[in-house]
Amino acid sequence: MRCATPTSRTALVSNTVQQSKPTVSSVVEQLASKLHLAGITDARRTATDILAAVLEVPRLWPVMNREAAVDSTAAVTATRAAERMVKGAPFGYAVGCVAFRHLNLVVDERVLIPRPETELLVEEILLRMEKVFRNGRPWGTAADIGTGSGAIALSLASEGRFQSVIATDASNDALTVARINASRSATALRVRVDFRQGSLLAPLGGQKVAVLASNPPYVSFAEMDSLPPSVRDWEPPIALFSGHDGLAATKELVRAGSRNLMTGGLLALEVDERRASLVAEMVMRHGTYMDVGVRLDLAGRERFVFASRI
Ligand code: GLN
Repeated sequence: MRCATPTSRTALVSNTVQQSKPTVSSVVEQLASKLHLAGITDARRTATDILAAVLEVPRLWPVMNREAAVDSTAAVTATRAAERMVKGAPFGYAVGCVAFRHLNLVVDERVLIPRPETELLVEEILLRMEKVFRNGRPWGTAADIGTGSGAIALSLASEGRFQSVIATDASNDALTVARINASRSATALRVRVDFRQGSLLAPLGGQKVAVLASNPPYVSFAEMDSLPPSVRDWEPPIALFSGHDGLAATKELVRAGSRNLMTGGLLALEVDERRASLVAEMVMRHGTYMDVGVRLDLAGRERFVFASRI
């Protein structure tokens, strides 16, 4: 399933009710009852969110436009999304897209659904680079390792002043989705994103970069059972799990990242909240980084580790 494209959006809603066209409120009611019957809590809120996502309008729009007509194609798309949620799919896969910073990204089971906390990883990178390059000079090259849907790389390419952005992923399937997102976001991008297939930093070869960003897999095998089923049973294991301690990918990023970062370059990692201090210690002990720090996400959990290459 795809999100409605911006060009088709105008065709999907209209302000006047035409005969045979369902209204926002009738579609929401119909979706809500399906969701409610399946035991999904907050069914009406979810139904409203599904319709908003399908129409690519703000979440509040359906609430403010209850009598607007909904094109039957959109109504069918929304119904299919609700049916996928009834089967247990997470919201992002059900509607086929997710908002990430300024971008609207398509997602399906080939990629991890970008989380709101990862928006903060991007935010922090942009703030730090702005601070270092106050004189308006370009920022060099950023690399997003394990890009998945392309969320981090595409945001950096659209919001930063990088001269080039590289995005790597071990999964060709993920890169297919990321490339679709790159072409959907083309007008927002200041530079092209260079997608490269391969494990972690391997696709960089010896190339030195100014920013090494990653939201790697960081869940341990032992933690698998404690994940919500909508994550465990739906999202790609390659994007979630990283060895018996959840740190296999992170360790490699710290170790090999030191080779690929230029002096003064920024290492920016998303980590599991239970292992943030462990990762910070690991980065410090490596001996090639300075200014090692842990940042919190909006829920106050230790979620990011930042460091500069000496
Ligand atoms: N943050 C994800 C979760 O909560 C895990 C993503 C990852 O391993 N990078 O399930």
